[in-house]
Amino acid sequence: VNQPVITVDGPSGSGKGTVCRLLANKLGWDVLDSGAIYRVLALASSHHMIAPTDEEALLPLAANLDVQFVVDTDTGNGKIVLEGEDVTKSIRTEEVGGVASKIAALPSVREALLRRQRAFRNESGLIADGRDMGTVVFPDAVLKIYLTASAEERANRRFLELKQRGVDVKIDSLVADIKARDDRDMNRPVAPLVPAEDAIVIDTTELDAKQAFEKVVSLCIEKN
Ligand code: C5P
Repeated sequence: VNQPVITVDGPSGSGKGTVCRLLANKLGWDVLDSGAIYRVLALASSHHMIAPTDEEALLPLAANLDVQFVVDTDTGNGKIVLEGEDVTKSIRTEEVGGVASKIAALPSVREALLRRQRAFRNESGLIADGRDMGTVVFPDAVLKIYLTASAEERANRRFLELKQRGVDVKIDSLVADIKARDDRDMNRPVAPLVPAEDAIVIDTTELDAKQAFEKVVSLCIEKN
C-alpha cells in the first residue's frame, strides 16, 4: 500500500523547509528534501569536474549517486553523506544552488532521480519538499501545498540567515540570484516550478514560518 504523502512545492526562500520540518514532527512522518539531492549531484559533478551542461556525463553520475541521508547519533540531527564525506553544510551555498538549478533542467537527470525520490515513501507518511513533488513525483499526494513569497522578501530571509552565520552579502545580489534561479526553475521545459492543478497556494510574504505552518495544519485538518 502506498503511504500518504503531503507535497510542499515552491521557490527557494518561500518557507518550505521549516514548514516541512514542523509538519513532519507533528505527524511523525519522514521528510524528503528533494532539493538536497539536486544539490548533492551538483557538488558531485564539480568533484568529478563535469560541466552542468554535460548531460552525457551527468546521467551515470545521477543514476549511481552515492548519497545517504542519515541521522547523526551524537546530535540526533539529519546528516547528508556523499561518497563517504559529510556534505550537510557544503551543499547549502548559493553557488551549489545555482549549479543544482542548471543540472535540474536536464530531463534525463530528473528521470534518473525519480525512483530514488519515490523510495522515500516507506512505513510512515512522507512530507515531500521540492519543485515538482505535487506535479511529477507524487501526483497522488493527499494534500498539495504551494508556498510562495515575493522575491524581495525571500532575498531578505536569505540575507538574515547568512548574516546570522557571519556571511557578508549584498541584498541586491541575493535578489538577482533568486530571480535568476526562479527564472530557470519556472521556465524549463521539463517539470517546471508551477503549482499542481489541485495544489493550495499560500503566499507567505506577510507570514513567518510558524504562521505558515499553522495555515498548513488547518488545511490538513480540513482535509480529514
Ligand atoms: O530547494 P533547493 O534550493 O535546495 O533546490 C536547489 C535546486 O534544485 C532548485 O533551484 C531547483 O532547480 C532544483 N530542484 C528541482 N526539483 C526539486 C527540488 C529542487 O528542480 N524537486
